[in-house]
Amino acid sequence: MPELTSDPATRGRYAPSPTGYLTVGNARTALLAWLDVRSRGGRFVLRLDDTDTARESVSAADICADLDALGLDWDEGWDVGGAHGPYETSKRSDRHRAVADDLIAGGAAYWDYTPAIADVSAHKAGRREAKAGRNVHRGTPDAVDGVDPVLRLRVPDAGRIEVVDRVYGKISVDVADVSEVALMRSDGRPTYHLASCVDDADMGVTSVVRGADWLNSLPQHVLVFRALGADVPAFAHVPLLVGKDGQKLSKRQGDLSIRHLIVDEGVPAGALCAYLANLGFEERSDLPTLTEMASTFDIGHLGKASPRYDPKKLEALSRRWLAERESSERLAAELRVRAPVELSDEQVAVLVDGVRTRIPTFAAAGDLAGFLGLDDSPGRDVTVLADDVVAPVLGTRPWDADALAAAIDAAVPAGPDRKARLGAFRDALAPGLRVTPPLHVMLAALGPDRAAARLAPT
Ligand code: GLU
Repeated sequence: MPELTSDPATRGRYAPSPTGYLTVGNARTALLAWLDVRSRGGRFVLRLDDTDTARESVSAADICADLDALGLDWDEGWDVGGAHGPYETSKRSDRHRAVADDLIAGGAAYWDYTPAIADVSAHKAGRREAKAGRNVHRGTPDAVDGVDPVLRLRVPDAGRIEVVDRVYGKISVDVADVSEVALMRSDGRPTYHLASCVDDADMGVTSVVRGADWLNSLPQHVLVFRALGADVPAFAHVPLLVGKDGQKLSKRQGDLSIRHLIVDEGVPAGALCAYLANLGFEERSDLPTLTEMASTFDIGHLGKASPRYDPKKLEALSRRWLAERESSERLAAELRVRAPVELSDEQVAVLVDGVRTRIPTFAAAGDLAGFLGLDDSPGRDVTVLADDVVAPVLGTRPWDADALAAAIDAAVPAGPDRKARLGAFRDALAPGLRVTPPLHVMLAALGPDRAAARLAPT
């Protein structure tokens, strides 16, 4: 693997809002932001974007747990601290208000007294440039009695704003098309537009990777950075994931939270990362870990089209991941937690080797251990499976999966009866179960005594 470059001057951040558990879309953005920083040996900062308290539904710890479950780490953040804290936007409002005063004093922002937009005609009158079809808001700077003003960014009267996005390339907009976005609400709380730029500038952020839903706000953010006298970070906007129907991902596609996928469905985090981080890039045939991905990562190669999130592709990749890349330790730990009965060390070892090539998730591994929870009652149909077929299998020594596989092959040779006989074996060992591990794996995990009890004639 090539050496990673080390450039501690690169500072990238991820700024999640605590409005819900991380979704596949959020997680992908976080992964790309992390890879962008780690590929350059920079520092990764985690900042809580809690500017919209009304929509908060999860705790900051929940978000850390989700990012941690993905295998991400960070050098600075609200939980680990750092030299640029606090790392919760809500704790920085004094700073935001002080900056707002500076912006007003410098002419970069003004109080807008446009009455609340219940009255559309008043809203329209507030536009300085009434260009047909353009939704460009310009405020009313003259005080109006009874109106609590919002603070707006002042957009210059003429000229263009130019900025290069690392994914979308050169962006050049006429200021006439740029809305004067709100920087502070009428109750004095800063908006994302103000807080995010101030925090990025204060935290020395050089690299921002965020969802393309913010691309339209980029010109305004460039103006805010300039007004702050700060360098504009290098921006990379990532096209948002869409569902199979090409529409925005929504609850219709099921529970799209990382927590659901990892905890409930048991998708290995490594597989999820390999899938999500590759969406929008040229498809890879290998199954890289995050560190392997970081060695060649270049966000400039990300396509501009919205990639499709396809649970079937994720499942196929997860299957391969479990067969080829998942560590035995992790699979063993998951099996212990997810199996319906307590497993001995020997049983875990047998199952790890015996199931890893036939499961799409850890949950499926737990399900495959279900046969161990059944009663050891006699279950052999002697009309299909005679004593002389079963006895040599039960006499196998050493009692291990390889020897048992060979014994079964010898006792049930190829021929017209083979399928029925193997089926009868299975019915005796795991009556009523639709999915089971292969016979030799079940036998090895049961041990000779329990296997003999189940293979006794009914
Ligand atoms: N909380 C915002 C989001 O999740 C942050 C965007 C950003 O990274 O600046 O979309």
